[in-house]
Amino acid sequence: MKSIFDDAQTRLNEVFSHIKLTDDVREKLQHPKLTVAFSIPTRMDNGSLKVFKGYRVQFDDTRGPTKGGIRYHPNVSMDEMTSLSFWMTIKCAIMDLPFGGAKGGIIVNPKELSRLELERLSRGYIREVADFIGPKRDIPAPDVYTNSTIMGWMADEYSQIKREQLPGVITGKPIYLNGSQGRVAATGRGALFVLLQWAKRNKINPSETTIAVQGFGNAGYHFARLAYEADFKIVAIADSQGAIYSKKGFDPDKVMAHKQEHRGIKSMVYCDGSVCDMQRYQEISAEELLELDVDVLALAALENQIHENNAAHIKARQILEIANGPVTSDADAILNKNGIIVLPDVLVNAGGVTVSYFEWVQNRAGMYWEELEINERMKKKIDREAKAIFDLSEEKKISLRTAAYLIGVQRIAGAITEKGTREYFQNEQG
Ligand code: NAD
Repeated sequence: MKSIFDDAQTRLNEVFSHIKLTDDVREKLQHPKLTVAFSIPTRMDNGSLKVFKGYRVQFDDTRGPTKGGIRYHPNVSMDEMTSLSFWMTIKCAIMDLPFGGAKGGIIVNPKELSRLELERLSRGYIREVADFIGPKRDIPAPDVYTNSTIMGWMADEYSQIKREQLPGVITGKPIYLNGSQGRVAATGRGALFVLLQWAKRNKINPSETTIAVQGFGNAGYHFARLAYEADFKIVAIADSQGAIYSKKGFDPDKVMAHKQEHRGIKSMVYCDGSVCDMQRYQEISAEELLELDVDVLALAALENQIHENNAAHIKARQILEIANGPVTSDADAILNKNGIIVLPDVLVNAGGVTVSYFEWVQNRAGMYWEELEINERMKKKIDREAKAIFDLSEEKKISLRTAAYLIGVQRIAGAITEKGTREYFQNEQG
């Protein structure tokens, strides 16, 4: 089976078939700049010592300090980290942020740890990477199963090690610890901005548009909540425990309230509106959710969800990639053949890193903006880049993903070329 990174590189090859770039760019974007794997010895509450495996990959820093989240998951691997750091490099360039890409993670199921164990592990992670990260070097953020509380512990640990206050080392921190307004909902909000742009361009009416959402964590929940407020109809929701479907549609806030109470959305009995009708919604399998006949399938869980074995069964008209890498390149080809539009991750989930960038700017300037200003600044950036990608895709008759990569890779290539000595050597030789 192809590694995730090999699959990510397939997209790059597609880009190189559309634009002429120097070999320097191709060569540079095939290799991560720095990869570190380390052990994090952690004291458990029962007094025993457990060693966890951690990673940090900085893929490319040509355009600025590297930026990327930290993931806690049992399936974390160096291959996954490398791919995610590669996507971050492309994404930051697509959004024209002055960052390169990175990613980190720990092999752990955080649900099995107590809060104190989680804090010790998170602080231990920072002690291992403290020499490689920093506000001008590499700036982590939350990802799957990490949140603002964890980012707060990490920023505090870093400041203790460096003996100075350096909040700009990590983004996605709690508001009380120099976090940014609007960061928590930023990824979901950015995904909605992309969908609204797409809908406007294609004369799609939100109130007649059904959406199935896979993944009901930070990105998926806020997207579903905001899409519901914008009049879209959320007909199905899945988390790691199960999936539910209702033709009538869900209010995501009520589903979240249930999930928090019962730690999962499966088997829910759901009260709608002021009259609690105790209507029971249909439980469906994770696979059934992916194959629902809906207008938009929003993928907000993990990578490799649509692959060569299930792509032909997808009935949604559009796929909104809120997660990173939820559709493999083999699946892309099948979906494309079947006329299914894929709105790509590197644009759709870029609201998160964009507001992380605003958080970093605010931390470094020591001046803070209100949420309205943050959301407006993010919308302006996303609308501009989305329009450029939609236009280029139409003009060149290429997929939205290839158009997005073309824009990002061209920006990275510009930076590599400007820094490089290639032309000098060519001139000397010629
Ligand atoms: P999260 O931990 O808050 O939520 C993950 C959700 O996915 C949970 O609801 C979990 O139950 C669900 N899930 C896991 N496996 C599943 C499965 N097999 N089927 C259905 N649901 C499943 O994580 P998040 O921060 O929301 O991240 C989700 C995705 O979005 C990841 O790919 C992440 O890289 C990407 N992303 C997140 C951000 C951000 O700011 N949080 C930014 C950019 C991209």
